[in-house]
Amino acid sequence: EPGSAPRTLCVLGSTGSIGTSTLDLVARNPERFQVDVLTANANVELLASQARQFNARMAVVADPDRYDELKTALSGTNIAVAAGPDALNEAADRDTDYVMAAIVGAAGLEPTLTAARRGACVALANKECLVSAGTVFLEAVDEADATLLPVDSEHNAIFQVLETHNRDAIDKIILTASGGPFRTWEKARMEAATPAEAVAHPNWSMGAKISVDSATMMNKGLEVIEAYYLFGVETDQLDVLVHPQSVIHSMVAYTDGSVLAQLGSPDMRTPIAHTMAWPARMPAPAARLDLAEIAQLTFEAPDLERFPALRLALAALQTGGAAPTLLNAANEVGVAAFLGGEIGFLDIAAIVEDTMSRGVAQGLSGAPASLDDVLQLDVAGRAIAAELVTARRS
Ligand code: NAD
Ligand code: MG
Repeated sequence: EPGSAPRTLCVLGSTGSIGTSTLDLVARNPERFQVDVLTANANVELLASQARQFNARMAVVADPDRYDELKTALSGTNIAVAAGPDALNEAADRDTDYVMAAIVGAAGLEPTLTAARRGACVALANKECLVSAGTVFLEAVDEADATLLPVDSEHNAIFQVLETHNRDAIDKIILTASGGPFRTWEKARMEAATPAEAVAHPNWSMGAKISVDSATMMNKGLEVIEAYYLFGVETDQLDVLVHPQSVIHSMVAYTDGSVLAQLGSPDMRTPIAHTMAWPARMPAPAARLDLAEIAQLTFEAPDLERFPALRLALAALQTGGAAPTLLNAANEVGVAAFLGGEIGFLDIAAIVEDTMSRGVAQGLSGAPASLDDVLQLDVAGRAIAAELVTARRS
C-alpha cells in the first residue's frame, strides 16, 4: 500500500536462482521492501555484494569455516555477520514480515520450519521440505498460524485459482510438466546423458539440482507430493499433464466440469512477485504472454516407463509413511553423484528405487512424527543411497 512501511524480508538461499530473482524484484520495487537478512551456503562473494547492495542488516553463511571471509568482505559496514547452521535458524527466526524459503534440498528444512514456527509469512520454494517432512511441517504451520504461499510455479498457479474459487468442489488438480530436456529421448540415449545435457532446460533457468530433477521428471513427482500437502486433496485427485511450452502453469478442474488455469511466460519472477505482494499484486518484468505468437499449446500424457523417477514418487505418495522422506534423501544423493560424474543418468532413479526397497527391508516404514524423526530418516536414506552409489561407481 502506498505510504505504508516497507515489508521486511528474510531471503534464505539468496545467492541461488530463486534468491537472485527475489532480490531482482526488490531492486525494481525499492519502496516496497527492506531486506533484513540474507543467507547462502558458501558463495561469500555474492552474498556480501547482495548484502551491501540491499543494505541488509545481517548476512549469514551456512558454512561455518567461511565466517572470517564474510566478516572481511563486509568490514566497514554495519551489517551483522554470522555463520553455521544455528545462525541459519536464527536468521529465519528474526522478526521479518516475509521469508523466502529458497534453500535447495533437505538442508532448508530446519530454517524453513523455524520460520513457520514463529508464525511468519513463508513463501515456499523449497519443495523438498514438504516432501520430506509434509505432516510435521504442516502441523507447525497450523499451530503457529503461519501463512504459507507457494512459489513453485505450478502450486502458485493452483493457489491463485483456489484463492478465488470454491475449494469444496474440486474434482482434480492438474499439474503441468514441461517434460524436461529429455522429453523425446529414448532410454538408450538417456543412459549416456551428461550433466550438461541434463541441466539444459528448454524453458526455465534454474539451479542444478532442480534442473536434473526436471530431466528425470522426479521434479514433477516431488511437486505432486508438494501439492498433496499444500492443497489437502486425495492422492487420486492429482494428475500430471505434459505441456512442453510451459505456458499453462497448472489447472484446477471442478465438479461441474469447469477447468480454471493460470497462464504466463515461464519466468519465476511472476510467481515470486505474487507471493511478495500478496494479497495485493505488484509489477514484475516477465515477458508479456503473447499467445498469437506462441500459436500452439500442446499436451501429452507422462511416460512412466521412460521416466521411472516420476513413477517412484507417485508410488511413494501412495505408500506414505517413511517413503517420501526416503525418496527425497535418495534422490538428493543420486543427483549429486550424477552431477559429480560418479554415476549415469538412469542410475539416479535406480538408486532411488533400491533405497526405497532396502529401507523397507530395514524396517524404515513408519511416518516421521517430529523434526528429529525426519532428520534421522533422511540420514538413514542418504546412507543407503551412498552405499548404492559406491557399488555402482566401480
Ligand atoms: P540454487 O541451487 O540456484 O540455489 C540454492 C540456494 O540455497 C543458494 O543460495 C545456496 O547457497 C543455498 N544452499 C544450498 N545448499 C545449502 C545448504 N546446505 N545450507 C544452506 N544453504 C544452502 O537452487 P534454486 O534453483 O534457486 O532452487 C531453490 C529451491 O527452490 C529448490 O528447492 C527448488 O526445487 C525450488 N524451486 C526452484 C525453481 C527455480 O526456477 N529455480 C522453481 C521452483 C522451485
Ligand atoms: Mg515447478
